[in-house]
Amino acid sequence: MRILRKFLFSFAEKRSFFALTDDYLPSIGKLLKLKRCSNKSAKKLVPYRPKLKQKSIFISAESMDNSALKTIENMIDETPIYSAKTYSRTLRQIEKLKYRKAKTIEEAKEYATKTLGIKSYDIPDVEVANQINLSMTNAIKKSRGRIKLPDKVEYTSITTGDKKFTSLDCPAQTLWHENTNEIVLQINKDYFDNIDNAINNYLNRYKLNGQLVQNSKGKDCIKLITSYKYDNTLNRYYRLYKQGKLTAKAKIDFDNLLQKASYEEKALLASKDSLIDYLKQKRGIDLSHLTHEEYMTKARELLLDIRNTYKMVLSAKAFETQNAVGLDAHVLHELGHSTHFREINFADYGKEVEGAFNQEELMTALKITPYATKNKGELIGEYIKGKLSGDKYSSDVDELFESCFKSPFHVYA
Ligand SMILES: [Zn+2]
Repeated sequence: MRILRKFLFSFAEKRSFFALTDDYLPSIGKLLKLKRCSNKSAKKLVPYRPKLKQKSIFISAESMDNSALKTIENMIDETPIYSAKTYSRTLRQIEKLKYRKAKTIEEAKEYATKTLGIKSYDIPDVEVANQINLSMTNAIKKSRGRIKLPDKVEYTSITTGDKKFTSLDCPAQTLWHENTNEIVLQINKDYFDNIDNAINNYLNRYKLNGQLVQNSKGKDCIKLITSYKYDNTLNRYYRLYKQGKLTAKAKIDFDNLLQKASYEEKALLASKDSLIDYLKQKRGIDLSHLTHEEYMTKARELLLDIRNTYKMVLSAKAFETQNAVGLDAHVLHELGHSTHFREINFADYGKEVEGAFNQEELMTALKITPYATKNKGELIGEYIKGKLSGDKYSSDVDELFESCFKSPFHVYA
């Protein structure tokens, strides 16, 4: 998925929402400006107690509930025809599929080719290869075979040919070759090579905003202004990163957490009208006459102060995609593409994948993630990623997805 890095601030009805690239998604930027309205949704700012610690966030192989698969064979007759016809593995095979962590690159390759059936697999980092294999295995099991894997997986430099993007905007992509009908998952070597720059961009911004501080125990930490369910994990990564202890794969996960935290902060600050009301009420300070830049600086400062004084932060709850994180998230998104490609004809690529949304659909797509608004294909990738990570979506989001994908996408326990 390409990561949106440049933001413009706009405001949207209901969503209290923010931030899209003006050059990348001009129509949405315009739409959101048009839709700006007085927002009385102060009640959406939910106090959050950071002391309620979150446990580990990553999807682990152990969390798969295999017992649920026992009932599958009894249910096959009830499976709608559109799902049943797309199974390439028997349910028995899916049930038996068991991820094994590889110790070497060769072992990982063997698992991918022999067990998962990938024709060609070339990933030079064993930890990265293991995560890709784990994500693919979980995706097949959780979707009961609905997910279609790529034919090839490769580690390569991705040149987008689009000067707006740097290598850091695109951790992975899925190609579909017309003449061979092959689907290739490409993991971007440039992204891994430049990951420190990506991380430092975020850290420098936090530093400028006064959000890199020491906590009461003298430990370095990033102080978020909005609640973020990965707060503790983010700071664990931050400390390990400073000590030079993160592996390539862990850096990808850290970068992705930073991106998610930054999305939520921007979304909270962009709830401008309700936030101004809240701060006036809470601190007796009126920010309504400030310029946009002044507002951003002051609001951030006050929110940090509220966090320190009252030991609470506010929740933006901007997006319904919450659980997908890191390299796992990138792989699951790409598997959404490979599955979609296997259900359509190449001749329909433009219509089915690059098709745009009308205004109402854009607002619904935005509930998934900002990136889901790009086109139908990216909405499918983002939605499937979220579903496979345990996210639940509201019914309008489900309906929009089904209109793009032509059927629902179910995830089983
Ligand atoms: Zn994508």
